[in-house]
Amino acid sequence: MQTLLKDFSDFDYKNLNNQVVIFGAGTIGRLTDLALKKNGIKSNIFVDSDPRKQGKEIQSKKIISPDELKKFDTDSTHIFIACNYFSSIVPFLKKNNFTNFYKVTNILKKVDTYKLYNEIDMDMLFSKLLPLKLERNLAFYNEMCNKEDYITNDKLVLKSIDVQITEKCSLKCKDCSNLMQYYKKPVDSDYDLLVNSMDKIMSSVDFIDELRVLGGDPFMNKELNKIINKLVTYKNVGRIVVYTNARFIPKNQNLDYLKQPRVILDITDYGEASAAAGKYVEFAKKEGIAYSINSCNTWQDCGRIIPNNKKTEKELEHQFNNCCNSDLVSLLHGKLYRCPFSANGVNLKAFASIKDDEINLSDNSIGKKELRDKIMHLSFGKKYLAACRFCNGRDYATANIPSAIQTKSKLDYKFQN
Ligand code: SF4
Ligand code: SF4
Repeated sequence: MQTLLKDFSDFDYKNLNNQVVIFGAGTIGRLTDLALKKNGIKSNIFVDSDPRKQGKEIQSKKIISPDELKKFDTDSTHIFIACNYFSSIVPFLKKNNFTNFYKVTNILKKVDTYKLYNEIDMDMLFSKLLPLKLERNLAFYNEMCNKEDYITNDKLVLKSIDVQITEKCSLKCKDCSNLMQYYKKPVDSDYDLLVNSMDKIMSSVDFIDELRVLGGDPFMNKELNKIINKLVTYKNVGRIVVYTNARFIPKNQNLDYLKQPRVILDITDYGEASAAAGKYVEFAKKEGIAYSINSCNTWQDCGRIIPNNKKTEKELEHQFNNCCNSDLVSLLHGKLYRCPFSANGVNLKAFASIKDDEINLSDNSIGKKELRDKIMHLSFGKKYLAACRFCNGRDYATANIPSAIQTKSKLDYKFQN
């Protein structure tokens, strides 16, 4: 097996001349720092692309920029990549002649991550994660760093698919990154079309770690129970996660489908807008539903369709490679897209997609092998999307704004090209 990233076991930790660098000063980076320490390895420094973190200290170590890392000796510097941006970090390291870079999967497997999580420095991080959420974040990381191995071994393993089951939402966030604020006459996804599309996808892929069931608000679709009961029949899926903005708990509905193995309720608490957040937690505890909750006071300023300001190819590639949503393959109305912004922008006819940016699952002339190749290309072969031209991007440089500010009326947009 040709492995791009080295494993922790390849690291010569007895060589005292080694500089140990952790790339990524987020939760996984901090966990890696503590896990290395528990295994007798002292890391020296963090690197992070986010200018807001650079120059600061966490866990008694300085955070430097990737530009500063370029000055380090390439032979004796060993870099543990502890964030999900492999598609931009690995080319950067290679371009600057670093050869010793590692994934952190196995070092984290050697420790009790949740116990260690309670010891990390929380400065510049959001609120504490519940164990289930941390476990999912680590699974996400593992899928991202195994991507190269999967491609080399012709395995089609996806970390997730967003199964968008409605355009409706119980909130009207003016900066919704899924573009719900632009739908004037929102509709639910057609059940038969959705099932037909999912059957085709699931028989073409080897494994999907998470099916993320969302909208809008998935509870606005009265067929949510039927959809979940169908999704749990797929054996090659790790988890089925149902998202809620906690606006309300559906009344007079049997929610037993949420109690099934592999089904998780993911509650986002937007404060005042999420009036039922507390009730959801009580309900989930009482009913034995696996759940996680996270509060969200700010999010990135990426929820709007912007005019085409003629970004260069290089700028588009940079935006795509550093986007935290560019790996959220999304199913909407029988078509598969690379990200939810692309899915909803094309569906709204706010802009057109380019060749290979979408797969029409209703096209019966596409055979199983061809569909597998197309999904492989959509998931791993894109340099950027047509949608990136009309999107503000979602990287460390995108401004943070208050989350869930409500709009009274739906927003207007014009076709962009
Ligand atoms: S961001 Fe707001 S409008 Fe968009 S799906 Fe979530 S709750 Fe609904
Ligand atoms: S359109 Fe491009 S930049 Fe915007 S969310 Fe999708 S992949 Fe990211």
